[in-house]
Amino acid sequence: MIGLISATAAGAAARDRLAAAWPDRTRVYEGPVGDAVRAAFAQCEQLVCFLATGAVVRLVAPLLSGKTADPGVVCVDEGGRFAVSLVGGHAGGANELAREVGEVLGAEPVVTTATDAADLPGLDTLGLPVEGDVAGVSRALLDGEAVALRAEVAWPLPPLPVAAEGSYTIRLTDRLVETAERQVVLRPPSLVVGVGASKGAPVEEVLGLIEGVLREAGLSAASVAELATVDAKAEEPGIVEAARRVGVPLVTYSAGELAAVDVPNPSDAPLAAVGTPSVAEAAALVSGGELLVPKRKSAASPAMATCAVVRRPGRGRLAVVGLGPGARDLLTPRAKAELRRASVLVGLDQYVEQIRDLLRPGTRILESGLGAEEERARTAVEEARKGRAVALIGSGDAGVYAMASPALAEASDDIDVVGVPGVTAALAAGAILGAPLGHDHVSISLSDLHTPWEVIERRVRAAAEADIVVTFYNPRSRGRDWQLPKALDILAEHRAPTTPVGVVRNASRPDESARLTTLAALDPATVDMMTVVTVGNTATREIAGRMVTPRGYRWQEEPE
Ligand code: SAH
Repeated sequence: MIGLISATAAGAAARDRLAAAWPDRTRVYEGPVGDAVRAAFAQCEQLVCFLATGAVVRLVAPLLSGKTADPGVVCVDEGGRFAVSLVGGHAGGANELAREVGEVLGAEPVVTTATDAADLPGLDTLGLPVEGDVAGVSRALLDGEAVALRAEVAWPLPPLPVAAEGSYTIRLTDRLVETAERQVVLRPPSLVVGVGASKGAPVEEVLGLIEGVLREAGLSAASVAELATVDAKAEEPGIVEAARRVGVPLVTYSAGELAAVDVPNPSDAPLAAVGTPSVAEAAALVSGGELLVPKRKSAASPAMATCAVVRRPGRGRLAVVGLGPGARDLLTPRAKAELRRASVLVGLDQYVEQIRDLLRPGTRILESGLGAEEERARTAVEEARKGRAVALIGSGDAGVYAMASPALAEASDDIDVVGVPGVTAALAAGAILGAPLGHDHVSISLSDLHTPWEVIERRVRAAAEADIVVTFYNPRSRGRDWQLPKALDILAEHRAPTTPVGVVRNASRPDESARLTTLAALDPATVDMMTVVTVGNTATREIAGRMVTPRGYRWQEEPE
C-alpha cells in the first residue's frame, strides 16, 4: 500500500490525481501532517508526500531504522514539477516509485542513488541476498575500478561491468565463506532441502536438523530456495513451520513421483508409512541436481526428522523480445526492462543498433548479419543453457515471422523462457492507414524461401474466398517480384477493382511513408521488403482518406 499525505490545496489536488490513477494501491492520510506521516510510515510499504523535502526529512528522521526495513519515500513539490526519491531508493522501491509518480503527474523523477545515476543495477537490487562490503564494492563499480566476478554457481545475473581480475570481488556462492573487505557475496537460491518427519515431529527438531546439516556441510541458509517433501506431509506442522522460519516455500510431491527417483539410501520405514522408499533424498533430487548431503537423521531419540541437501543447476533465462516496428515509444516498457535485465544480447546488427543506447554497461552483444537466423537462435539458447540471462531480439513481434520459433525449437526445458510481445508491422501499418483490420484479418508472408509457392497460393486463395482482410509481409524483393502481382490477381477474382489497398513502408521509422490505393491501381514496383501491403475485404471503404473496414457488412447494401 502507498500512503499519500498532503498539506496544501495544490498538494491535495495532485494527491487526488494519484489516488484516482491507483485506487487499489493508495490510501490517503488526512489530518495533521505530522500524524499522517507517522501513521503512513508505520502502515505502508511506500509514501508519497506532497510536501517540502525539508519537512519530510524532519518528520521521518526519528522513524528511520535501516535500509531494508524502511518504506520508500517520495516527495512531490508544490508545483508538481518533481518527484524526488528521498528514502529507500533501492530496497524501499522509491526510485521506481518516483518514476511511476512522475509518469502519472507529468513530473520529472529525481533519483540520487549513485548506481541508478550511472545506470548500474545496485548490488542490493539483484533479487539475491547479499552480504559483505556492499558500499565498498558498489563504489568500486561506480568508479570503474576493476571488480572481479567469481561465480561458483551458474546464475542469470543482470549485466555488471566486471573484469577477470580485480582488487574487489563479487562472489556468487552458496557456500559459507568469510566475507573479507572489498568483497560481497551474492547468494543464489541454489539449494533444495528435502525433509521427512514422523507425525508430530517438533519444529525445533526439524529446524535444528536443517540448520546443523547446512552448517556442517559449509552451506549458507541464505541460498536455500525451498524445502521439499512428500504430499502426505504437506500439512505436517513441524515441516510447515520450519519452511516459514527459513523463509522459503514448501513444495511437495506424490509418493509415486518420489518412488521413481533413484536415491543412495532407500529404506523400508517411509515405504510402509507413505509409500515411497525415500522422502528427504528423493524430494530434494526430484528436479535434478547434485546430492551434497545424503540423508541425515536428527540427533533426538527416537529421531523424528530426516533431511538431505541438493544443489540444483542454475537455470538460464531466455527473453524473446519484440522491439516493435521502430519508433522508441512503440517499444514496450516490458521489452525495455528485459533488454536491461539481460547480460547477453543476441540479434541482427540493425536491430541491435535500434536499442544499443538502452543497454547497461557490461552487456555482451552478439550481433550477426542478415540470414544467420538459425545460428542466432542456437547461440541464444546455448548462452542461456550456460546459466546466463539472454535477450534475443526481433523487430515488431519476435514471434511473427521471426526468431521465437527457431529459438524455442532449439530450447530444452532446462532454461526459463520469457516472451515479450511487440507491435507487429500489420498493427503499426493499420494504425497509420486508419482501421483496415476492423473485421477478420490474416497475415500472409509472400516469401517462398522456406515455404513452397503452392502452399502460399492456397492460403491466398482461401483468404480471397473467405473475404478476409489480408496483410502481406515480405511482399516483394529484388529477386522475388512476381509473387505480389500473382497474389493480388487471386484476390481480384473475389474483390472489386476498387477495393482499398494500403501500402506502408517503414512504419514508425524516420522515413515512414503510406499510400492508399486500390486493387486495380496498385503498382507493385512501389513495394519492397520494408513494406507491408494490406488489402481490404469487400466491405472496406476509403473514408476521408482513411482505410476503414466495418465491423460488419451492412455497408454492402449501400449503392456504389
Ligand atoms: N517480426 C516482424 C516481421 C518480420 S518479417 C514483425 O512482427 O513486424 C519482415 C517483414 O515485415 C518485412 O518484409 C515487411 O513486410 C514487414 N515489416 C517489418 N517492419 C516493418 C515496418 N516498420 N514497416 C513496414 N513493414 C515492416
